[in-house]
Amino acid sequence: MSSASCIFCKIIKGEIPSFKLIETPLSFAFLDIQPLSEGHILVIPKHHGAKLHNIPDENLADILPVIKKLTKVLKLDENDTPEGTGYNVLQNNGRIAHQEVDHVHFHLIPKVDPKTGLGVGWPAQATDFDKLGKLHKELIEKLEKL
Ligand code: 5GP
Ligand code: ZN
Repeated sequence: MSSASCIFCKIIKGEIPSFKLIETPLSFAFLDIQPLSEGHILVIPKHHGAKLHNIPDENLADILPVIKKLTKVLKLDENDTPEGTGYNVLQNNGRIAHQEVDHVHFHLIPKVDPKTGLGVGWPAQATDFDKLGKLHKELIEKLEKL
């Protein structure tokens, strides 16, 4: 499924050039043209959909192994300790969540120093077990009906 007006669908079809890295029958990976750090890569499903829930499971299942392969080519897999070089995998849904391109994309963003790469705001709320317990019950009931 493709959208004629979508920039990432055009990239998949080769109508817009890209620095392609990996193509599978279900996914396409290429360099982000405005990287947050060197090696910032986008991995997209070859199925047009704006948000994660719009994408078939088989496309989603294809994407994480592609990202894993890319960690190797970027040598991000060489550090198995918590300190030192790391990376973020990010997938935004909706303008409020910082999505600019309405075709699902996973960012692989190397984090080699505090300045480059993804900066994360994390406005954690205080732990409230009563509230969590109520929410958990509600969600479990809904999950059982899915
Ligand atoms: P979002 O904010 O939607 O999660 O991220 C969109 C990303 O797509 C941005 O990082 C932006 O640099 C990238 N991007 C936008 N247009 C193009 C393009 O034409 N080619 C490539 N390679 N990346 C793009
Ligand atoms: Zn698209």
